[in-house]
Amino acid sequence: MTTTLDWYGCATFALKTAGLNIFLDAYIDRAANAPGSGLKADDIDACDWIVVGHSHFDHLYGAERIAVNTGAKIIGSYETVRVMEQAGVPLEQMICVAGGEYIDLGNGVTVSVYPSQHSCVWSHAEMHQPGEVCIGDLGVTWQEQNRRMGELMDYLSQELEADASAHVASSLQGDRGDGGALIFVFETPDGSVLFQDTSGHWSGILRDLRPDVAIMAAAGRGNIDGEPIQGSLAEFIARQSDLLRPSKLILCHHDNWLPGFSVDTDIQPIRDVLQRVAPRVELLELGYLDGREILPI
Ligand SMILES: [Zn+2]
Repeated sequence: MTTTLDWYGCATFALKTAGLNIFLDAYIDRAANAPGSGLKADDIDACDWIVVGHSHFDHLYGAERIAVNTGAKIIGSYETVRVMEQAGVPLEQMICVAGGEYIDLGNGVTVSVYPSQHSCVWSHAEMHQPGEVCIGDLGVTWQEQNRRMGELMDYLSQELEADASAHVASSLQGDRGDGGALIFVFETPDGSVLFQDTSGHWSGILRDLRPDVAIMAAAGRGNIDGEPIQGSLAEFIARQSDLLRPSKLILCHHDNWLPGFSVDTDIQPIRDVLQRVAPRVELLELGYLDGREILPI
């Protein structure tokens, strides 16, 4: 048996293992001017579980349709479950998690949930390329972060093209913030997979995990224990690779999922830093829906 991974863009994947079809996030519909798989959430006709890293639309939008169309169960934060209930998903089809849960997915597959951190969205307007070093912004209060988030929203409403604006307006689901970011570690008969969908972590949690394959978000300013990284996104990815020591690393959230805000990320600076800091980690680059075999190692 093998375990495969299909990338749908942004941080959304289908993990196929031990006869299960597990969606990691559910954001499939895209702005008309964004590249992608060409599919929509309504095109998904088989799914057993949907595991959601946090409640922002670019992770959660679509889960309500996949769940209703396929009967898949959603695993996500209390905020994710609140938003999905409002969108019409029955409560008994969802499991609320906050970190610390160990869930049997069937067929010999389990998932463990850990608390995590969201990237420091408030610290920048446009996304930067991963080699760009950012310093400062330490000790910024919750209130100041919120003020800057407001500025970012104003900036986006002016900068996004009509296609992208219309898409954002239609996909906002009424979330109250990220809902608390989570990371997940799947144990399968073929090996283990860690899933992270935003560039942040608690270092005391990450350093004790040893997945065979790590999926890491590569977008924005990395968040380490609640503070923005003093360095580049490439250094953030390399630091996480050094903590986790996976055999294989797969990036997500690095495509141009929302033109005008996101960037088409240059992977080379990440490769360069990884080569110095964690040379044994193999970086795989996935195309959309290429059904890549990731396990066994
Ligand atoms: Zn987010």
